[in-house]
Amino acid sequence: MEQIKKPRGTLDILPEQTAAWQYIEKTIRKKCLEYGFGEIRFPTFEATELFSRGVGDTTDVVQKEMYTFKDRDDRSLSLRPEGTACVVRSMLENGLYAGAMPLKLYYLTNFFRYEKPQAGRSREFFQFGTELFGSESPAADATVISLAYSVFKELGLKDVVLHINSVGCPKCRPLYREALVNYLSGYTDKLCPTCLERLGKNPLRVLDCKSPVCSEIAKNAPKTTQHLCEDCEQHLKALTDILDAAEIPYVIDSGIVRGLDYYTGTVFEFIDERIGAQSTVCGGGRYDGLVAQLGGPQMSGVGFGMGITRLIACLEQEGLLKSVDTAPDIYLAPADKEVYTKVFTLCEQLRGMGIKAETDLCSRSIKAQMKYADKIHARFTAVIGGNEAETGVVTVKNMQDGGRAEVKLSAADIAEAIK
Ligand code: ATP
Ligand code: MG
Repeated sequence: MEQIKKPRGTLDILPEQTAAWQYIEKTIRKKCLEYGFGEIRFPTFEATELFSRGVGDTTDVVQKEMYTFKDRDDRSLSLRPEGTACVVRSMLENGLYAGAMPLKLYYLTNFFRYEKPQAGRSREFFQFGTELFGSESPAADATVISLAYSVFKELGLKDVVLHINSVGCPKCRPLYREALVNYLSGYTDKLCPTCLERLGKNPLRVLDCKSPVCSEIAKNAPKTTQHLCEDCEQHLKALTDILDAAEIPYVIDSGIVRGLDYYTGTVFEFIDERIGAQSTVCGGGRYDGLVAQLGGPQMSGVGFGMGITRLIACLEQEGLLKSVDTAPDIYLAPADKEVYTKVFTLCEQLRGMGIKAETDLCSRSIKAQMKYADKIHARFTAVIGGNEAETGVVTVKNMQDGGRAEVKLSAADIAEAIK
């Protein structure tokens, strides 16, 4: 019969790779604990309206990339394309904003976007994300940036570059927008069709366009940083002062605008050019209007999303992906049927002591068992038959150096011998 293949743009993550994923996840969770961010988990699908209102009707994500479907009751639902709207929804629904503020949350989960699959871009992907609610202080921006930076540092990554910008607030953004539209209107014959559309709806997004012609035009466009109001300018200055003091390197980059509608003020990306075209490993910023827009109180927020596969690409690039040792410590080979249950029990006792122990599950001959032990890279082996059962002594063999040791046939003695 014909085999079924996984859907386009999805990933199978196999045991030899999950060791690296677990190592990264462990590092992330450790850092979140140190920074006081609590983990939040939310549904895989939400009301479609959460994203059209929260992420923005004019964004690529909502217009082209969502997996939207009707359930049997004719409700429109969507697989989560991002986490911020979900976290805000959950925070409001569960009244978390009534507790201690600021509220610091993180998630480590999968998201879904109907995009063109390529290196660094899949249709189901994985993100580490954080959200910090209830602080307008630049120190809040610095905290989430520092958390992301500390994860890179802990993993040994030195060449991921932090780019910072401010996209302005409702006071100054309209003025900037006007200046930008004026400038871009001189290039309507050259801009790509998507950017022509953006010009009317969300001209800032033109600065984010990957087409060579558009990015050339964007180079000379008016800069957000030249159009900030005093508050936004001071905020950016205070943030960079904190980063300087904390010795977190950054570049000011007016090309950073972010793809989602909800950003206000600070926006940032961590970029590693060496992993290819999809070089943004982590992107985030401040979203002071989003909570109110989703029906909550006026409450500021700042956060980021970090792509795990891109993070792995950075680690691979620098040869930092440690191979985690999953090989068994010992393989116990039963020589005949009579001793099998004894060997099985011994194996269980060793596992109970934290030792990776394996035994035969396929009724193999001793020769075939030894071949298998070799294949799974068992560090030690021991053959147990009637003789061993009778004398209560077993020979433990070191597979690396061929050394042998005679020990009592007990879990404690075997454990001692392979320490
Ligand atoms: P991009 O510029 O790559 O399209 P984005 O602006 O759409 O990214 P965000 O929504 O801010 O990205 O998501 C944050 C991070 O999540 C990205 O920087 C990236 O590392 C990762 N990410 C986003 N979309 C994908 C995807 N389709 N496949 C893999 N990782 C992704
Ligand atoms: Mg995108």
